[in-house]
Amino acid sequence: MSFSKEIYAEATAQMQRRRTEAERQCAIRREEIHLALPEVAQLEQEISHVGLKVSRMVLGAGEKAPALIQQLKEHNLRTQQRIASLLVQNGYPQDSLFPQYQCPACDDTGFNGPYRCACFNQLLTQIALEKLNESSSMSLRGFDDFSLSYYSDEIIPGMGVDARYLMGEVYSQCRKYAESFSLESPSLLFTGSTGLGKTHLSLAIAREAIQKGFGTLYVTAQNLLSEIEKEHFQRERTQTDTMGLASSCDLLVLDDLGAEFQSPFTQTMVYNLLNARILKKRPFIINTNLNLNEIEQRYTQRVVSRLLGACKVLRFYGKDIRHIQFSQQVKEGI
Ligand SMILES: [Zn+2]
Repeated sequence: MSFSKEIYAEATAQMQRRRTEAERQCAIRREEIHLALPEVAQLEQEISHVGLKVSRMVLGAGEKAPALIQQLKEHNLRTQQRIASLLVQNGYPQDSLFPQYQCPACDDTGFNGPYRCACFNQLLTQIALEKLNESSSMSLRGFDDFSLSYYSDEIIPGMGVDARYLMGEVYSQCRKYAESFSLESPSLLFTGSTGLGKTHLSLAIAREAIQKGFGTLYVTAQNLLSEIEKEHFQRERTQTDTMGLASSCDLLVLDDLGAEFQSPFTQTMVYNLLNARILKKRPFIINTNLNLNEIEQRYTQRVVSRLLGACKVLRFYGKDIRHIQFSQQVKEGI
C-alpha cells in the first residue's frame, strides 16, 4: 500500500525514536550493571582490548590470520558466556547489555533488507488512519454519555412497545458488540431517520475498538468518497491509498451513507469498498437515513444484497434528538 511522503516521514521519525530510546535505556542499564558488578565492566573492556590487539596481530600474521581470528572468536564467546552467567546469578536477564528493541525482526530499523518490516507497515497504517480520522469532522463518543431519556415512552402504534424500550435494546446490543469486538465480528447496518443516535453509537464502538488497538477508520461517506475520487484522478505514486486503507483496516465506520454527492463513480466505489471488505472478512458499520428500497435505488440491488448478506441490521427509533435538545434549551433559556 502506498503512503504520502508526510506519513512516511512521520513513521520513519517514530521508528528512529524507538531505536534511540531502546539504546538510551540500554546505556542506562549498562551503567547500573557496571556499578553493581565491576567484573562485568572488566570483562566487557577485555573483549574490546583483545579485539584491538588481535586486529593488529592479524595484519602481520599472513596465513596464520584465520587461526588467530578463530582464537579471538572463541575467547570472546567464553567471555560473553561468563558475563551472561554473572548477570543471571545476580538477578539480571542475560541479555541486559543489549538494546531491547520493540521489533526483534528489524531491531526497530523498519526494514528487513530492502523490504519494509511488518512493524513499519503497521505504523504507516496507524498514522494514515489517525490523519484521516482527524480530518473526518467527527469526534469519538462514549457509551456513557448516550441518554435514553430523549426517546419517547409512548407506545408506537402497531408495535406494542415504545421507542425508549427499542433504543434500550439497540444500545445494549451496540455495547455488547463493542465489548466483544474482534475481526470476526459481524458488520452492522444502522438505519433510521436523522438525529436518532446512529452516529453517536457507531463512534462509541469505534472508540472502544481503537482503545483495544484495532486499526479503525471513522469517516463520513461524503468525505471518504471525495478523497478516493481525488486520489483516483490525480494519482501519484507517493499518495496515500485511501481506498486501500478503507478496504483493509480492522474496522470501518462509514457515516451517513446516501448523503454523498451521487455519481456513477461513487456508486461503483461504494460497491467496490463493501465488496472488498466482505471478501477480506473485515467488519464495518454503516449508518444511513435511507431505507433498503432507497439504498437499492441509489446503489443497485447488488449493493443491497451484499449489505443484507454481511450485516446485522439495527433499526433506530424515535424523534430527532437534536430538535428535542434544542427545544429543551429554549425552554430553559440557554
Ligand atoms: Zn520490525
